[in-house]
Amino acid sequence: MIIAIDGPAAAGKGTLARRIAAALGLPYLDTGLLYRAVGRRVLDAGNDPANVAAATAAARALTEADFQRSDLRGPEADKAASQVASIPAVRAALLDFQRHYGTQKGAVLDGRDIGTIIFPNADVKLFVTASLEARTQRRYAEILGRGEHVSIEAVRADLAARDDADRTRAAAPLIQASDATLLDTSTMNADEAFAKALSLVKQKTI
Ligand code: C5P
Repeated sequence: MIIAIDGPAAAGKGTLARRIAAALGLPYLDTGLLYRAVGRRVLDAGNDPANVAAATAAARALTEADFQRSDLRGPEADKAASQVASIPAVRAALLDFQRHYGTQKGAVLDGRDIGTIIFPNADVKLFVTASLEARTQRRYAEILGRGEHVSIEAVRADLAARDDADRTRAAAPLIQASDATLLDTSTMNADEAFAKALSLVKQKTI
């Protein structure tokens, strides 16, 4: 079974996807980590994440160790991930890995293009979103929880800019698949969102 969970940044996709995977005994893949790892490799090499040749080479050279790094989150990694993700050759280099991962034992995958490009025939597609304000509050709390300091205005501006870039890019833009179910978690806590998502998954698969 393939469960595709797409949506904008900080909508709670990752937490939901992880919990759904655990409940159903399926592997879970956070596909954002792939783009984050590519962006980090490009930055490490002293290159610009918008540089097509550098980003494509980094995507082709990814190894397991790139995903274990502790610096894949935070504003710099967010921006670099979104920049490399707009490059078609980077997306092409990561496509087979995602499809192969999902077809081994089935999987829950979260990202931006899982239901539209990676698994257009997924058994269940959820488009998880929340208002910019709700997402800003959640991301702000998460950053403070890591012991880092940031202004809430900067968090809001970063999320809005990244969503805009992800929605308007030509390659695999963030968009709700026509057959995806919309789940707006603006007024839900994590437990409520999980209960609703699990019931949607069960409705589609029983
Ligand atoms: O999901 P996360 O916020 O970790 O993703 C980081 C960035 O990677 C996104 O802003 C987006 O540009 C890119 N991404 C993507 N396609 C995916 C997953 C992530 O373009 N399937």
